Amino acid sequence: MAGRKTVIVGGSMAGLFAANMLHRAGWQVSVLERSASPLSGRGAGIVTHTGMLRLLEKAGVATSDGLGVALKQRLSFDRQGHIRADIKFSQILMSWSRLHALLRCALPAKCYALDRWVQQVSFGNSSSAAEVVCSDGQRYQADLLIAADGVRSTLRAALLPGEHAQVAPYVAWRGLALQSALSRPAQRRLGESFVVVSEPGEEMISYPVLGDDGQVYVNFVWYRRVTPAQRQALFTDATGVFHPDGISPRLIRSEHLAQARRDAKACFHAELAELVERSDELLLQVIVDQRASVMHRGRMALIGDAAFVARPHVGQGVTKAGGDAWALCQCVGDGSLDIPAALSRYSSLRVPVGRLAVQRARELGAVLLPASARSAAMRRWAQYYADPRALLADTAVELPGLAHLDVGFGGLA
Ligand SMILES: Cc1cc2nc3c(=O)[nH]c(=O)nc-3n(C[C@H](O)[C@H](O)[C@H](O)COP(=O)(O)OP(=O)(O)OC[C@H]3O[C@@H](n4cnc5c(N)ncnc54)[C@H](O)[C@@H]3O)c2cc1C
Repeated sequence: MAGRKTVIVGGSMAGLFAANMLHRAGWQVSVLERSASPLSGRGAGIVTHTGMLRLLEKAGVATSDGLGVALKQRLSFDRQGHIRADIKFSQILMSWSRLHALLRCALPAKCYALDRWVQQVSFGNSSSAAEVVCSDGQRYQADLLIAADGVRSTLRAALLPGEHAQVAPYVAWRGLALQSALSRPAQRRLGESFVVVSEPGEEMISYPVLGDDGQVYVNFVWYRRVTPAQRQALFTDATGVFHPDGISPRLIRSEHLAQARRDAKACFHAELAELVERSDELLLQVIVDQRASVMHRGRMALIGDAAFVARPHVGQGVTKAGGDAWALCQCVGDGSLDIPAALSRYSSLRVPVGRLAVQRARELGAVLLPASARSAAMRRWAQYYADPRALLADTAVELPGLAHLDVGFGGLA
């Protein structure tokens, strides 16, 4: 039965992991990506883990060298720039663009189509194929349909119409500056360490990443607690339109950009403020938790952010996406098994893993919650992570089982 057909909706991280793994397992693969132009330059850094590197190898990406920037330490500073805590920690930091380019290059070009916006789905069953319909009316049938269409997934909405993402009471500003454009002290401190700095209602993480142009950038994620009124203002453009799910960088009002740069000077020490100042473009992102009670129906499986979204404190979105893809690949094998039964097994393996990631991320985010919004458990986590050493040690570290490696599959492997 080798050569059975899979259609993958979404050509970002999860979609490309699945496409590469299934292609290597002998499936005919079609990736349908909504964007009309190649995905690149999203300006974000990605923290890698041992599990993620092993998953990249399973997807056909060589990880021997030159993947990213290798760091050996983590630091926390106070507002004056004095070191509050430091720990030894080896990790490779990549840029989103570079990771995406490597996964894309590993897949034959004919398997990937841009400008394919999937709008309708039928899930299929043991005896009939799944099907999707694109905005231009084109139909695609599949033995295995994979929903890798991210946090606001159309396919997930059809499967789980009552299960929505929950918005966290803080937002994330992100940015990226060329390391060589920073002052010498900032180059040294921010270019050689993974930095986590926490102040009341604020947390900034910075680290250097290797861009897909071969240059080193320093990237930051700056979490800021917001009131509902502040959120409303930040995500409203100059014409008065509110963008609750995320605002394009070019629509962020100039006064908010200027205020963020000013606030960085007030909240953090000079080098982090300089990083914010020298970042060409500031991105503003909504932070959400998303869970799924099941990850399949008929011949369709949810993977990556279409299934579960954990707040970025855990830095696990890509590993989880790759782990979902790997678990799915193991469960469906070469396609000769009953696909709906294989997907039921996949779902029972991965739902607990997604729940774990969401819960761990909420615990790490407890320090950012307003005191009035903290449950007794979250109060304990906020207290625990008030210690900068604990926050350094637990931010963006590998979670057990997420990569789905070394898991036994009995007859399915
Ligand atoms: C601030 C922040 C920091 C982060 N830091 C890290 C980190 O350090 N490490 C890490 O591992 N993760 C991190 N993440 C999470 C990570 O970026 C995501 O988990 C990961 O990108 C999810 O990939 P995905 O392919 O599931 O979804 P997405 O990347 O959202 O991709 C979905 C794709 O589907 C396409 N699509 C959507 N709808 C349709 C449709 N109807 N038809 C066709 N195509 C469609 C979209 O265009 C998109 O290309 C971070 C996230 C944030 C917000």
